[in-house]
Amino acid sequence: MTLENQPEPEATPGVVVVRVVAAGICGSDLTAFTGRMGISLPGQIRGHEFSGVVISSTPENADWVGVPVAVNPLLSCNTCRACRRGDDNQCAEQVSIGIQRPGGFAELAAVPVTNLVALTPNVDFVAAATAEPLADAIHAVRLGLSSGPAEQALVIGAGSIGTLLIASARLLGVTDIVVLDPDTRRHDAAISAGGTTIFDNRDDVNGYFATNPLGGADLVFDVVGTPGTRHDAVQWTNRGGTTVMVGLHEDTADLSWRDIIRREITLKGSSASNRNDFRTAADWLNNGLIELPAWRADTLENAPAIFTTMTNGSRPSSLEKVMLMPAPN
Ligand SMILES: [Zn+2]
Ligand SMILES: [Zn+2]
Repeated sequence: MTLENQPEPEATPGVVVVRVVAAGICGSDLTAFTGRMGISLPGQIRGHEFSGVVISSTPENADWVGVPVAVNPLLSCNTCRACRRGDDNQCAEQVSIGIQRPGGFAELAAVPVTNLVALTPNVDFVAAATAEPLADAIHAVRLGLSSGPAEQALVIGAGSIGTLLIASARLLGVTDIVVLDPDTRRHDAAISAGGTTIFDNRDDVNGYFATNPLGGADLVFDVVGTPGTRHDAVQWTNRGGTTVMVGLHEDTADLSWRDIIRREITLKGSSASNRNDFRTAADWLNNGLIELPAWRADTLENAPAIFTTMTNGSRPSSLEKVMLMPAPN
C-alpha cells in the first residue's frame, strides 16, 4: 500500500465529486490487504465506509454542492429482478465503491448522486462514515426478524459489526440480547449497545441455555464465521428459531443437519445491505440513535503503516476503529 498523487476525479452527468472527511478501515480492507480473503485489485483506492461534502457537479446536480453526505458504496444495475425487488446487494452486476471502483481513502472521490444520502448541516462525519457497517448490521437483523418476531437474540462476536448488530436488534424491538465474546475488553461496548447478558466463554452459554426450556434463543447471529461458532450458533437456536450467518472467517463448516431439521431451524446468510438498510442507518446516525463503537482518527499518510500494524499478529492490539481523515485541501 502506498500514498500516491493521482488525477483528480471529475464530475460527470449523474456523478458528483465528494471531498472525503472520514473513511473507516473495515476488516474486509485488512483481509484484502493480506490477500487472505476478499477482493483485492492492484492499484485500487479502497475505502467503502465514508462521508464528506459534495464539492462539484455538472449543472443538473448543482443543488448537491455543499451538502454533507453519507456515501452508499453499492453500485447495482437497478433493472434486474434482485434490484427491482429491493435486494440490490444481490444484483449480479453489483460492484462497490472502494472495492472495485476508486473509494474513500483519498481526498476526493467520484460518487453517483443515486448513492448519496444527504445529512443535516451539523452532522458528525465520523458517525456518517459508520452508515455502511451499520446498514450491514440492520440488514442482518431485518433478515432474522423476517421469519417472525424474536424476544431473545444471541450475538456471537462483539467486534464493531457485532456491537452495531446489538444496537440494531435493540432498536428493531428485540428486548433480551445475550452476547458471547471471549475478548472481555469488548464487553462494556456490548452492554452500552444494548446487550443484557454477556458471556466470555461458550461453556457458560451452554449452561445458560440448558436451563431454558426451548434450549436456545429465538434469533442467533454468528458474526465470527469459524466452524466452531457456526456449529454453536445452530445449537443455541431454539425450536422454530432463526440462525443468521454473518461472519466469513472460513468457507465451510460442518453443521448438525439433524438439529436443523428436527428443530425446524431457519438458516439465513446475510451479506452487506440494500438501499433501504443504508437509508435507515444514515437516518439513525443523523438522529443520534446509535452510540459509535470506539474509534480514533488518523491520516492518509499513515495508512500504509496502519495496515501493516493492524495485520500483524492474530489478535488486534487495539479495539478502536480507525477513521482516516484526509486533511482539507
Ligand atoms: Zn466494510
Ligand atoms: Zn441488478
